[in-house]
Amino acid sequence: MKKLNGVAASRGICIGPAFQFLRIELNTEKKEINDPQVEIERLKAALITAKDQIDIIYKKALTEASEADAEIFQAHKMILDDPELISTIENRIQCEKINCECAVSETANQFAATMAAMEDEYFAARATDIMDVANRVIRVLMNVADSPTAGLKEPSIILADDLTPSDTVLLDKSKVLGFCIAQGSSTSHTAILARGLGLPAVAGVGADVMNVLSNTSVVVDGTNGVVIIEPDETTEKQYRQRMETSKNIQTEALKYAQEKANTRDGMEVEVAANIGNVEDAKFAVENGAEGVGLLRTEFLYLERNALPTEEEQYQAYKAIMGVFGMHPVVLRTLDVGGDKEIPYLHLEKEMNPFLGERALRLCLNRPDIFKPQLRAALRAGVGHNLKIMFPMVATLTCVRAAMLVVNECKAELSKENIPFADDAEIGIMVEIPSAAVIADQLAKEVDFFSIGTNDLSQYAMAADRTNPKVAELSNAFQPAVLRLIKMVIDAAHAEHKWVGMCGELAGEPLATPILIGLGLDEFSMSPPFVPLVKQIIRNLNAEEMISLAKGALQLETPKDVQNFVKKEVPFITEVIS
Ligand code: PEP
Ligand code: MG
Repeated sequence: MKKLNGVAASRGICIGPAFQFLRIELNTEKKEINDPQVEIERLKAALITAKDQIDIIYKKALTEASEADAEIFQAHKMILDDPELISTIENRIQCEKINCECAVSETANQFAATMAAMEDEYFAARATDIMDVANRVIRVLMNVADSPTAGLKEPSIILADDLTPSDTVLLDKSKVLGFCIAQGSSTSHTAILARGLGLPAVAGVGADVMNVLSNTSVVVDGTNGVVIIEPDETTEKQYRQRMETSKNIQTEALKYAQEKANTRDGMEVEVAANIGNVEDAKFAVENGAEGVGLLRTEFLYLERNALPTEEEQYQAYKAIMGVFGMHPVVLRTLDVGGDKEIPYLHLEKEMNPFLGERALRLCLNRPDIFKPQLRAALRAGVGHNLKIMFPMVATLTCVRAAMLVVNECKAELSKENIPFADDAEIGIMVEIPSAAVIADQLAKEVDFFSIGTNDLSQYAMAADRTNPKVAELSNAFQPAVLRLIKMVIDAAHAEHKWVGMCGELAGEPLATPILIGLGLDEFSMSPPFVPLVKQIIRNLNAEEMISLAKGALQLETPKDVQNFVKKEVPFITEVIS
């Protein structure tokens, strides 16, 4: 039995076999070969296999996705038939006497670079396609599996160095029990995904986890940030008991999930969900979410080769709004950058991507991205309760600039006689300390705020949210962060504007009493947390929580704050396991 300590990234416990999520490094090193003809025959055979694979994926996409998505694979097949590309590869093998893998890789890189350099969006997107197809051919040549999860056959605990948002999109979620991640912290996107699915996760456990073999028995305790490799009988029994208790608590909370969550003394609170797609939306409603406090639209932009069109976005947003009827849906405009990359945008590499041209900053520079999204959102909001929200707001200037684009979109839609939600509220995320500092000014400009504690903590504390070494610093329970939250809520209320929170702190039971005491109006969290947080709110007296919040703001560390809440509100300790 071995214990690994990490960061508690998603509450809950799971026990099961490990599955190593290994990204296979494709070895395309240059090697001199003796017989170019043998190498060319290898290439030809690999091209046939790659085409067969693409055919299978194409058919799967046709039935499981849309025709537009499936078309991408037709385009991939055409690349393999491109005489210029194939003859260049063959010539290099013939003339330079180099191995097939290297010839494919270098030639594809060269073709892709030429395409990427073109101004035209369409050709730039083809660069990614060429690399996708070339990597497929190289995988066939090296005889390695199509995806890191090809061997994932039974429900398992995913062990990985780190997972990108695109990796997680590809995962067959029905085969995942939980996550154990070498890097990352509680607000990295793997952690957010795990919470969205209600699966336990521990992040930042360190590279040791990569030495655990697939199928080894593992316990992930996402509440305490502990991973046990090969637990002994007694340990496993204890964890199974805790799993049982927490299941019972969740089942009990679920019984009342559809009821309102007002405090004992009658403070009205809205509990909403953070979602990324229509499946999440349905799951959120089942869990009692009274709306959407954060629709992360970037998931629509991942795992594809070109920007989604206005029409595609309209359909996707409409489907989500439909699930919520007249309940509020806060749609956040694209938040790309930071640790969320979209390869086909070919954005310049930045030294500090979290501090760079992220989210609204990019959208303001790229009306070709921003306007179709805003138009799609405004159109989809007709007959619903749409609210539009901008991420990464740092200044008044950028809010005003964004508002201008919204008004431009509205004017265009009017002129085109296309119906749109003219009355949609416009709000901002407060996730940059400068926005918290000027919250009084910003509150005059917008209809609402939603506090993004994941980023607010990292920027306020100068501690990367994905770096486990500074996880304690980027913890939103830091009194400095809590004080910023108080400033934001007070500033909004002074202007009679409502304030939500969609950062992960909103779903933390130990934060609930403090946030109630600070007067937060809306809590938005991963759907599985909704029932429990609602249950906690119903058991609190808002008036009493005011002095609790005051006390918490005077403490020193996140642990101090959490212990203080446990002491002052003892029933919470019983419901978090
Ligand atoms: C946040 O920063 O708190 C937030 C909700 O946004 P994201 O985690 O998507 O950056
Ligand atoms: Mg954020």
